[in-house]
Amino acid sequence: MRWSQMFVPTLRQDPADADAVSHRLLLRAGFIRQLMAGHYSLLPLAIRVRAKIMTVIREEMDRIGAQEFLLPAMHPAEIWHKSGRWDVMGQEMFRLRDRRGADLALGMTHEEIFATVASELRSYRELPQAWYQFQTKFRDEPRPKSGLMRVREFTMKDSYTFDVDEAGLDTAFDRHYEAYRRIFERLGIPVVAVEASNGTMGGSDSREFMCPSGAGEDITIVCPGCGYAANVEAAQAALTAVEDVDLLDAPERFATPGVRTIEDLAVGHGFAGDRQIKTLVYVVDDQLTLVLLRGDHALVEQKLVDALGAIAIRPAQAEEIRSALGALPGSLGAVGVSELPIVADEALRGRRGMATGANVDDVHLRGVEVDRDIVVGRWADLREVVAGEPCVRCGTPLEATKTVEVGHIFKLGRKYSESMGVSVLMADGTRVAPIMGSYGIGVERAIAAIVETHHDDKGIVWPMAVAPFQVVIVQLGTDEATALAARELYERLGNNGIEVVWDDREERPGVKFSDAELVGIPLRVTVGARGLARGIVEVTRRSTGDTVEVPVEEAAVRLA
Ligand code: ATP
Ligand code: MG
Ligand code: MG
Ligand code: MG
Repeated sequence: MRWSQMFVPTLRQDPADADAVSHRLLLRAGFIRQLMAGHYSLLPLAIRVRAKIMTVIREEMDRIGAQEFLLPAMHPAEIWHKSGRWDVMGQEMFRLRDRRGADLALGMTHEEIFATVASELRSYRELPQAWYQFQTKFRDEPRPKSGLMRVREFTMKDSYTFDVDEAGLDTAFDRHYEAYRRIFERLGIPVVAVEASNGTMGGSDSREFMCPSGAGEDITIVCPGCGYAANVEAAQAALTAVEDVDLLDAPERFATPGVRTIEDLAVGHGFAGDRQIKTLVYVVDDQLTLVLLRGDHALVEQKLVDALGAIAIRPAQAEEIRSALGALPGSLGAVGVSELPIVADEALRGRRGMATGANVDDVHLRGVEVDRDIVVGRWADLREVVAGEPCVRCGTPLEATKTVEVGHIFKLGRKYSESMGVSVLMADGTRVAPIMGSYGIGVERAIAAIVETHHDDKGIVWPMAVAPFQVVIVQLGTDEATALAARELYERLGNNGIEVVWDDREERPGVKFSDAELVGIPLRVTVGARGLARGIVEVTRRSTGDTVEVPVEEAAVRLA
């Protein structure tokens, strides 16, 4: 490509209100433009990076034997009703109605739709199957943020596996785990894989791939001593499990004025849609109270009623909790507090991980007499609670890092195959619903994550594997000999299969250099009259700034 013919609208100034580094640099370097909040146009340079990311993902998916599909982005409501998620997904799901009055959804994930296709599976002999696609997902995020990081319309590589039994699912899950590790390594995205919980997806196991980023909205707890990594909820649960006594010795952490006896106190998390809701659960006088610190109250209530059936929802004792929480400093006000007291039930108490509804993990205090007030408190900032605490495994103080989730893999179970009526005939004549897994990577979020972790004060520093171009030839001056030398090098590199852009613009050298650095092309070849007089061009590495002189005739070979 000749730069003079490309559309790369670089900006001299930092754009206003671009908070995240990746947002600012992708705008400045002419990769993206916003259409409206959460919706971005990808310009030609971004398309090149995106294509490379998709190629890496596709290669690794194919390598584990997955087959590529493309399912519709728009879905009939009935399918979502069948799984129960039409209601559960709440406001995050974009819904529309066609001219015949049929309710439709824009897909935010595709478990239901892939399961529908899977209903043509007939025999256990056809399993295992691993299917994937690159498809646009729509999510009406409450707060689109940070450029490509959190948008309302994005490409996801999502895959789905179908197996006869748990052992098969374990294998499919492990293969995806390894594939994801290879993908992020090839893309240059540093990740920690953390234990996470499954939420409404149901199922038994899930791992999130977290990339450190100041713009990330998740906190990952890591132990510099032994490498233990967990999301903050899991780390909190692990810590509090061994901390029963300390909790009581730290009344400022857990106290509600007026509460004298706590039968059970649990920290846990529930889900509405695929949104995580931080919860604190406690039982007072046989009343189990679930305090939702984040999330959509009405949705969760409905889910709980569905899940628990017999358990009656009592009118909220909420005022008391609300005022206790409201009195606390920190982020609680901002996240909003809703609450849902429900009558305690043996079936719920102490039970771990219900299939749907709220997961109540790690009930860790039982029959505790309190002589002082209990504060429902420090959940306002889990990071503060956990960071600095000794690691449960090795005692080293834990560190908290802001991270962004770049991938997520789930063991789903049979929820979707059962609700969509998928079953295969086994050798003994019985029918079995295949057990599913689902696995996602956000493609544009990966672009943002790469920029978050590969930049300097001059701009983006693309890893070679995903760079929009591998080499930029910066031609200094417009005299005929220089232009000819630049053109010859450009053609030879192109013929050698190098992705090269030739900056042939009539611009000052300073502009060309700063654009090349801002855009982040890994190698720059500077072709100018002064060098040519000595028979050399200069090759500069973007990542280090190191420059070497290379004889003109050797340049094409040396760069290949
Ligand atoms: P988050 O916790 O950041 O909201 P999620 O848990 O809702 O993400 P999943 O449903 O697990 O996301 O989807 C799989 C992947 O899709 C995520 O790991 C992420 O890479 C990407 N993704 C999810 N939501 C968005 C979004 N709003 N914008 C861009 N990418 C997204
Ligand atoms: Mg989300
Ligand atoms: Mg998440
Ligand atoms: Mg996720």
